[in-house]
Amino acid sequence: MRFALGLILIATLAPAQQMDPDFAKSVKEWTTKPEFSSPLVDHLPLSATIPSPKQILGHHIGAPKVLSYYADLLKYYRALAAASPRVRIVEIGKTDEGRESIVVVIGEETTLKNIDTYRHYLAQLADPRSLTEAQAYEIIGKAKPIYHLMGGLHSGETGPAEMLMELAYRLVTEDSPIVRSIRDHLIVTITPAADPDGRDRYVDWYYKYKIDETKEEENMGGPPYWGKYIFHDDNRDINYSQLPMRNILAWYLGWHPPIMHDLHESVPFLYTFSGQAPQEPGLDPILYGELPWFANFEMEQMIKYGMPGVWTHAYVDMWSPGYLGFMSSNHNGMLRMYETFGNGGANTMHRRITNPDGEGGGRGGAAAGGQATAGMTSREWYRPLPPYAEVDWSIRNNTNYMETGVLTGMQLAAAFPEIVLENFYKKSRNSIESGKKDPPFAYVIPADQPDPTRVALLVNILRLQGIEVGRASSEIKVKEGAFREGSLLIKRDQPYGRLARILLEKQVYPDPQLRTYDDSAWTMGLMAHVKVVEIADKTVLDAPASPVDKYEPKGKAVSSPAAVAYAVPDNGSINMATLRYRLKGLRVRIAEQAFQTVPAGSFILDPPTFAKLKPEVEALGLTTVALDSQPTVPMHETPLPRVAVYSTWGSTQDVGWVRYAFDYFEAPYDLIYKERARKGNLRADYDVIVIPSQGRSAKTLVYDLAPKPKPLAYTKTDRFKFLGAYGSSDDITGGMGLEGSLEFRKFVEEGGVLITLGEASAFPPEYGITRTIETGRASAQFYAPGPIVNAEVLRPTHPIFYGYTEKTIPVRWANGPLLTVPRTDRQEILMQFPGGDTNVLSGLMRGAAEIRNRPAIVEVPVGQGLVVLFATNPCYRWQNFGEFRMLFNAMINYKNIK
Ligand SMILES: [Zn+2]
Repeated sequence: MRFALGLILIATLAPAQQMDPDFAKSVKEWTTKPEFSSPLVDHLPLSATIPSPKQILGHHIGAPKVLSYYADLLKYYRALAAASPRVRIVEIGKTDEGRESIVVVIGEETTLKNIDTYRHYLAQLADPRSLTEAQAYEIIGKAKPIYHLMGGLHSGETGPAEMLMELAYRLVTEDSPIVRSIRDHLIVTITPAADPDGRDRYVDWYYKYKIDETKEEENMGGPPYWGKYIFHDDNRDINYSQLPMRNILAWYLGWHPPIMHDLHESVPFLYTFSGQAPQEPGLDPILYGELPWFANFEMEQMIKYGMPGVWTHAYVDMWSPGYLGFMSSNHNGMLRMYETFGNGGANTMHRRITNPDGEGGGRGGAAAGGQATAGMTSREWYRPLPPYAEVDWSIRNNTNYMETGVLTGMQLAAAFPEIVLENFYKKSRNSIESGKKDPPFAYVIPADQPDPTRVALLVNILRLQGIEVGRASSEIKVKEGAFREGSLLIKRDQPYGRLARILLEKQVYPDPQLRTYDDSAWTMGLMAHVKVVEIADKTVLDAPASPVDKYEPKGKAVSSPAAVAYAVPDNGSINMATLRYRLKGLRVRIAEQAFQTVPAGSFILDPPTFAKLKPEVEALGLTTVALDSQPTVPMHETPLPRVAVYSTWGSTQDVGWVRYAFDYFEAPYDLIYKERARKGNLRADYDVIVIPSQGRSAKTLVYDLAPKPKPLAYTKTDRFKFLGAYGSSDDITGGMGLEGSLEFRKFVEEGGVLITLGEASAFPPEYGITRTIETGRASAQFYAPGPIVNAEVLRPTHPIFYGYTEKTIPVRWANGPLLTVPRTDRQEILMQFPGGDTNVLSGLMRGAAEIRNRPAIVEVPVGQGLVVLFATNPCYRWQNFGEFRMLFNAMINYKNIK
């Protein structure tokens, strides 16, 4: 009987339950081929008490030309929670624009009634230090895995946020064996849209422009912004700088879901992540077994349902731990990730899946130069039933695939809940044990570092991720040396000891022929210019230390009746910039040379300002020195510049990171676009203009988005109230053009300081602003995905290097242009790359000899003004704090940097 009926039918249908015929009819109509659906999602139960998405939203999920605003997502989940004891809403914080971030919790009624008990079980497994093996297994027998689903991290990937509402309803109402098993054995949690602000902005944009698209050639692109700052890089925010990301992390650490499943859209038809080389070797090997276990089950089941184009492997590698969902694998859980085919909206479109350049389907892991495959429609061992090369694709197809996939993933987790929990426990236990067995056993941040504020940035990022940090209560004496009391100690024998190591160690890239999807290095000490010592002496584990919750170095400002001036010593803190801005209106001089104990770059203030100075210095973790005579070293005034940050409309992301840093350190600026540049007379309004790295070349910086048949306005209207944020334009296409670039030249000639970062540093040379500088590119063999390399300071007394004491400093390689300065102008080079393999400190630079003695920072006088070209990016992704000061120094000393 069982086989006659078929396992699929038995598993997926609840014969006694009444289904919604209107839903089945609609889904059939909106699905472009029968094989693009499955027996898991072709039906939906009717319920007398629980509202379906259609009852709240007015349509079934996957309806053509309909996307839901964030408020509608909240409205639906709240209605579901109000009607069902199987649903709860947890509020986890607000976004930059004030939207409520939530997590939806779904489970059996009795599970939810005892949710705190279940949370406690998982917390115990996440930190099993107080458990015996027997106690751990007793908990595994009682606990339930949380399976977390996350949609809407990337706002242009619109399907997951829609699908998750239908999934939630199905999980609450359906009585098929699969869904019942999920409900009984798991707790399902949902992030409806990980970037709520971006969701609304994108949906506005969709209704304004994209709803008219009928074919892929008509693609109108997306809006210039999703959330407030960083666009697609919300999935590269390794240090959790952004509010919505921080909210999710804080929730994660309170709930400990062993599985976190992040839903994206890009490649056809459904790519289920299982990782590939290179893999982060610091994570537990169990993880690398779990990933293909799940991915292969999904692929096999979906092939069985007849769905083509489900594949795994060969797309994203597992090197960088900086993707948002990796918070799970970084914390001994399991990251899962999908890419489902999407149209960037809800229109049904004809799509051609071709790779005309023959590039392979994989960005990560592929051998250099691309893969020898025919793109994503080829049959491969990891893609036994490939996607079609041409297809009509609808958002309902997208929903069908993704929902079938996640139901299948959860079906597996629900079939093996104890294995999932045991793995979670073992990975947590192994992390602790590995810290007792395998060196390094700890990392020490010595107490005697001149700038405690960068130490604080680093330590608080570790703390944010739940890593335990101790303050040594007596001197630590180990083979590596003696570290005085108060030194910070990160022992590895803790649940997140593996993560601590991954973040703090130098990245040793396994094979220079392997490509990786994102950065190859992130070593925090090198990025922050903080001394971190790796300790291989096991006795360090016995060093007594008291736990540090948040590390807040206390500043100290002591007045003296004898003082004729006060110095604020510059030990490299980025907070010096903040202090200068907070002291707006006061006379602040800068000492150009060191004297007594006061380094070059220190602020010198008159005694009457002390009352204003004291609270700021203390709050910012700085100090003062009372001087009994005026400094005799040269000093200069520091009038605050009027600063503009220039942004294209087509590439706002790296600008966003700079904006975030400026906002964080309280440096005021105007954000300007091509409209302001073309208007001209920039010098009347600004002393300094910063052009952050953006676009792929100088040409894209200048010409930006290609003009469309009609103007592409980004403006706020009554109907589209989320557009026009952070700038507005009646037509965002066209770029500044030659007119705009001429205005930048005039700005410099008239005495302005133009600072360009990374890729933007190709602009002044290539558009005739710095005529003597040439730009070039490395060879095709050169490959350097964000390694950390040495840079050599050539002009150590230059104001850009206030706060720096070393001649050689670590910088992140930014893949900016290779600059050439005429031999006669070598003095314009402030910093250069010594190049060569020995100067690669962390990560991969293949062909490191190619950058030998290439300029890293160049200042070029032009007319009355100055151009400062950074071939580095001194403000990269809230990561390279050690380089930030060079940018702030250039701004604050703008009158004195030539
Ligand atoms: Zn994505």
